Amino acid sequence: MNPTRSFSPTRSAAQALDTADELAPFRRRFHLPRPQRDAEAARQPVVYLCGHSLGLQPRHAADLVGEVLTDWQRLAVDAHFDAGRPWYSYHEQVTGGLARVAGCQPDEVVAMNSLTANLHLMMAGFYRPDGARHRILIESGAFPSDRYAVDSQLRWRGLDPATARLDIAPREGEHALRTDDIVATIDRHADTLALVLLPGVQYLSGQLLDLAAIARTCRRHGIVFGVDAAHAIGNVALRLHDWDVDFAVWCSYKYLNAGPGAVAGCFVHARHARRTPALAGWWGHDKRRRFRMAPDFDPIPGAEGWQLSNPSVLALAPLIASLELFDEAGIRRLAAKSRRLTGYLEYLLTEWLPREVEILTPAERGAQLSVRLRVEPARAHAAFERLRAAGIVADWRAPDVIRMAPVPLYNRFQDAWLAADALTRVLGTGRTGG
Ligand SMILES: *Cc1c(COP(=O)(O)O)cnc(C)c1O
Repeated sequence: MNPTRSFSPTRSAAQALDTADELAPFRRRFHLPRPQRDAEAARQPVVYLCGHSLGLQPRHAADLVGEVLTDWQRLAVDAHFDAGRPWYSYHEQVTGGLARVAGCQPDEVVAMNSLTANLHLMMAGFYRPDGARHRILIESGAFPSDRYAVDSQLRWRGLDPATARLDIAPREGEHALRTDDIVATIDRHADTLALVLLPGVQYLSGQLLDLAAIARTCRRHGIVFGVDAAHAIGNVALRLHDWDVDFAVWCSYKYLNAGPGAVAGCFVHARHARRTPALAGWWGHDKRRRFRMAPDFDPIPGAEGWQLSNPSVLALAPLIASLELFDEAGIRRLAAKSRRLTGYLEYLLTEWLPREVEILTPAERGAQLSVRLRVEPARAHAAFERLRAAGIVADWRAPDVIRMAPVPLYNRFQDAWLAADALTRVLGTGRTGG
């Protein structure tokens, strides 16, 4: 089925799509930011298309943060066990919700630390260079933090990233990686690869990778497959367990809407549940006996065994509020709306700006569209500035790409319409559905 066939470019059609949207009420469960500059415009919320960078605040988050502060005031140390949500097991409040968005068993997932810290922890345990088999495959366009983490892990083991890191890039003139090319590269270099580390959704292009196919290839060769799910978690319906990924890490402030610096997440496949964590801390120790302060580390089987410290309860509280919404809406219903909503934005942009924009994001994707402006660089950036002034919040990736993510939990079809209409105006072509 061609999804664009059912779309129409008129504004009333966008309103009709919102009226028919059963997930539309979730928008009211979030705080919508207002424009900062123009007091007149500030009556309308901005069109927020930046959930791939920082998700909006669930309204219930402040209550849950307040609850922690109140428990601290009233109970102090006793809140560890006597609070309504005891701090001792507070991180377990998010286990079920995280397992549902990650598509895994509860014992395969844990909320802890930050993304890059978790990536290092996982590589400390799962990257085991062994003679010729010592290289790490990543994409040449990897997020800088992932690249720094990989290079420093290599150097830490006495290896030179120039030879021990293998980069894979899209073909000349293409923006997405082809699954066949990834599989062929792994096959070709299997004898020297110890670890393949790839994103679930690529942060720049918005491409969703075929994780199941890549995992199958890695398994066939006995290579560890790790996934950076920063842009995938809460964005696409993941099935990390069934896809047979070895480990995955993510942050919780993008599509998971848990706030700046929120506690991140980590997945460890059940087949590694009995593996002793490479780097240990007391929070990974058997929970029933943790406070006996025994000298020898006895890890909790599964992902929880990788915990180092007692977590930031304040930073976990908004994640509870957010995951409640994911559970109510359901990640599959959200993914279905997301395909339609992002397809609609793509439809409008290609209808109105067929020559002025190029959509870099392939059909395999989540919410994000990476939109290249095919005009001179100075004009492209000026257009982005005017888009911001018009109350459209997206982000800019030099030299000429705007990333826009209509997020199914809080964005409307009208938001996609307003963004496409504004971009058409600022590029000065004057063709819209008005
Ligand atoms: C957002 C993002 C990060 C950020 O790392 P932090 O440790 O949370 O600061 C890292 N890697 C990728 C792929 C990301 O998208």
